[in-house]
Amino acid sequence: MSARQEFLPYNIPLIEEDDIAEVVDTLRSGWIAKGPKTLEFEKQFAEYVGAKYAVALNSCTAALHLALVAAGIGEGDEVITTPMTFASSANVIIHTGAKPVLVDIDPITMNIDPKKIGEKLSPRTKGIIPVHIAGHPCDLDEIMTIAREHNLFVLEDGAHAVYTQYKGKMIGSLGDATAFSFYATKNLVTGEGGMVTTNNEDLYNKIRILSTHGMSRNAWNRYAQAGSWYYEVLEPGYKDNMSDIMAGLGLTQLAKLERMQGVRRDLAEYFNAEFAKIPELEEPVELDYARHAWHLYIIKLNLDKLSIDRGAFVEELKAENIGTSVHFIPLHMHPYYRDTFGYKAGDFPVAEDVFERIISLPLYPKMSMQDAQDVVDAVRRVIERFRK
Ligand SMILES: *Cc1c(COP(=O)(O)O)cnc(C)c1O
Repeated sequence: MSARQEFLPYNIPLIEEDDIAEVVDTLRSGWIAKGPKTLEFEKQFAEYVGAKYAVALNSCTAALHLALVAAGIGEGDEVITTPMTFASSANVIIHTGAKPVLVDIDPITMNIDPKKIGEKLSPRTKGIIPVHIAGHPCDLDEIMTIAREHNLFVLEDGAHAVYTQYKGKMIGSLGDATAFSFYATKNLVTGEGGMVTTNNEDLYNKIRILSTHGMSRNAWNRYAQAGSWYYEVLEPGYKDNMSDIMAGLGLTQLAKLERMQGVRRDLAEYFNAEFAKIPELEEPVELDYARHAWHLYIIKLNLDKLSIDRGAFVEELKAENIGTSVHFIPLHMHPYYRDTFGYKAGDFPVAEDVFERIISLPLYPKMSMQDAQDVVDAVRRVIERFRK
């Protein structure tokens, strides 16, 4: 007998009637590309995070990429990031022609370790992409101090960090630019989608123009009644903008974000209280300077107290009808980065050690308290069977 009858998926987005009605409203409006709803979503999101400017895009990957291009990063440059992230954070560096340079992580938060950044700086270093893993902020003061000293562009990967605060300030208002993801599994969803926020007007204008072919005016400016047909191409840009179908969802999701985050916090607090009683694993922390967004709930197994490894633990949870995931396989262990940049086992020992121990458990607003109890029961049952 498993802990529950039905399989609990690792993640399901919360889509309600208001979300559906808003998308239908866009479909009926006659304007389904980038238009009034995208502009409204940009305005509301910028206000929400306390940034002067926001540009809505079709992904967080596009947001990261355009911010780097707009900052003038390219061939011959180096950009620092972490091995403990999704491929996107490093791929965008490669897309500009620059080289990603990895810095090992802090074993507790799993965020980039600011104390190790210094060793990796070179005259070519132009930027740094800290990633707020799981929704726990990086130690930004330490990162910003290094960046200001060495004149580095700080682009935060906030894919997990909608709602995250650092020392009481919203992520999205602090670095030179911040990229957010609204992908289907994230805290706020538009299916696919992303946003870049900044307080720098010049950077904002560059990103906006780069996102639609480098054109001086977008379609909404041209086709609206007050618009003009005339435009000029200022540079060979990209096609990365959001559509109003996505932005409608963004608006309804933003309106319910506090409620969704309340559920995430309740679930996380329940998990933390229960897992604190289990010495075979470590529960995630929320340090003094942090407001956690609880995008992911990552436990770390104490493998010396167990007779099975992480892979087998995941299979046992599946047999208990609990879906899980692993965030992330460190970048330098993937064939592309390993072979291209000559990485080998042992290059980032903290990331490698943590990787062998981590499991992301289900945590999302659509989960009930009963679902959460089932997760705890399943973890307990597996540990009872395989405790050393
Ligand atoms: C999801 C994710 C991204 C990419 O987001 P997209 O919107 O899918 O492009 C980037 N970085 C991290 C850490 C992510 O988890």
